[in-house]
Amino acid sequence: MELNPNYPTPVEHLPRLSRVPDASSSARACDARRASHACQLWVKREDVTHPLYGGNKVRKLERLLAVAKARAADRIVTVGAGGSHQVLATALFGRQAGFEVEAVLLPQPRSDHALLNLRASLAQGAHVFPVSSYAAAPLAIVRRLGRDALFIPVGGSNYLGTLGYVDAAREIAEQIRSGAMPEPDVAVVTLGSGGTAAGLAAGFAAAGLKTEVLGVAVTPPGWGIALMARWLAWRCGHLAIRFRVTSRYLGAGYGHRTAWGDRATALAQGSGLTLDPTYTAKTFAAVLDLVDSGRYRHVLYVHTLSSAPMAPLLAGAPEEQELAPELVRLFR
Ligand SMILES: *Cc1c(COP(=O)(O)O)cnc(C)c1O
Repeated sequence: MELNPNYPTPVEHLPRLSRVPDASSSARACDARRASHACQLWVKREDVTHPLYGGNKVRKLERLLAVAKARAADRIVTVGAGGSHQVLATALFGRQAGFEVEAVLLPQPRSDHALLNLRASLAQGAHVFPVSSYAAAPLAIVRRLGRDALFIPVGGSNYLGTLGYVDAAREIAEQIRSGAMPEPDVAVVTLGSGGTAAGLAAGFAAAGLKTEVLGVAVTPPGWGIALMARWLAWRCGHLAIRFRVTSRYLGAGYGHRTAWGDRATALAQGSGLTLDPTYTAKTFAAVLDLVDSGRYRHVLYVHTLSSAPMAPLLAGAPEEQELAPELVRLFR
């Protein structure tokens, strides 16, 4: 499938957010401080996977659309929150590859970012089917399925989508080998539907890296998504993965902004990274805490949010006032 992606995505050091322990700390070294050392923060720029629309859905769609083509499908059926990045990416790249894209849309808390994504998805020609609850989604999906359609689950996280992040892990291993960055102790990534974290953990294991993956849960329950991620990693051939999950940064739930996320967003902005409240703000808050903890020498943040400009994707999009009432009701 020729998406014309932009690989390898760069890795960069973020010196302003790295940790330099104060000079006096070794003088007053006591047991509690022994593990306290300098920590370099690095970022894997998955925001620039594609010039039109980046983020972590590009590698997944590369694999998924190739299969849709191989099966001679006409339509892609997918599902996601009202402001889903996955739906937007599928609408854009799926249509570009010649498929009709249909999306069942689920309710989520209102945010400007989510509304923009929905309007952009509509501008890319997505056919949308809003449902009023998660419970109503399976039937709405089944109604759209057919022999001419390939189904892409939430977040694009099935076996094929996950393989896209095994590819990314291989790319990171190559960047370490070539000296572009040191081997990280821990790679921190958002845990939405789990495919990105699972693929990375499986890929690191395959490449013989010791890097642990920390998944920051943004959809409850964290343990359920963690189980899903372990299963996906197993499907990619790896049971023995270094993988941990935290639900400490979730706040009130999926799509609800948090104070720590807002603080992380402001700090990231100072280093040239733009975050969103649903996924990356919560993850970056975890990253800052890890760096601060003084327990790691090298932390890698995997930046999964597109940084491509939205204006071209919004050309011809309906205004918010022009949206059908059942679409507006998705955001509450
Ligand atoms: C979809 C998405 C994620 C979650 O990735 P999963 O593979 O579903 O866990 C993280 N960050 C952003 C910006 C996303 O759009």
